[in-house]
Amino acid sequence: MINIGCHLSSSGGFLAMGKHAVELGADTFAFFTRNPRGGSAKEIDPEDAKALVTFMKENNFGRLVAHAPYTMNVCAEKESVRKFSWEMLSDDLDRMQYVPGNYYNFHPGSHVGQGTDAAIPMIADAINSALRPEHDTTVLLETMAGKGSEVGKTFEEIARIIDLVELKDKIGVCFDTCHTWDGGYDNVSDIDGVLKEFDSVIGLDRLYAVHLNDSKNDRDSHKDRHEVIGGGFLGEEAIRRIVTHPLLQGKPFILETPNEDPGYKKEIELIRSWF
Ligand code: FE
Ligand code: FE
Ligand code: ZN
Repeated sequence: MINIGCHLSSSGGFLAMGKHAVELGADTFAFFTRNPRGGSAKEIDPEDAKALVTFMKENNFGRLVAHAPYTMNVCAEKESVRKFSWEMLSDDLDRMQYVPGNYYNFHPGSHVGQGTDAAIPMIADAINSALRPEHDTTVLLETMAGKGSEVGKTFEEIARIIDLVELKDKIGVCFDTCHTWDGGYDNVSDIDGVLKEFDSVIGLDRLYAVHLNDSKNDRDSHKDRHEVIGGGFLGEEAIRRIVTHPLLQGKPFILETPNEDPGYKKEIELIRSWF
């Protein structure tokens, strides 16, 4: 069994997201820690956060997979963007303390011409400067499609970042099924092989969460355009094999498919019917 959920709006606060998740049949969810396209953050109501923690226990939720804003680029070439991103990362990890014991996922970043070799130490330095021993959050690097100058498009790049992170017990990976496919990994006909490669390059003990998406594009396209489950190049059968894969049980799966509530509800129902 897995935990399944989708991205939810945080506009009503923490407890409202928990209730919304239950309405959709979910037992985990993702949310943006701040405005995803800007970066401004709302003040947290500690009582509301506590109420969610209680609600999650009562409803047997799996761990949440918070998502950093898209504007965050900790390896940006422009110093002002980089500095702002480092500050957001640090502030977000402090804010995650209100809902301890969950995951915080972020895109490693885009090197914008500096090259991957220059970007990798920057990404690790950003994590090392933000992440402290007292944080109760595991930071997840998301596997990327390799659009533009994205870093993290191969397991090797992710492994090189992790190698440079100091607090090894607080770093992991979120496996995005659309991104890895777009990045060239054959999630359709050889998910066993893909996971085997993940294990030998990164280690499956670092795979904490899955972003569950179909893809509008064929393998190795480096496009990063999500599709609804079964509507794209991965297809329902391949997605079913991923969801029910023995090595992925017990993890939170987050839908980032182009849907409104009814679509998410249907996808969650479909996924639950596979168990
Ligand atoms: Fe993402
Ligand atoms: Fe994703
Ligand atoms: Zn994506």
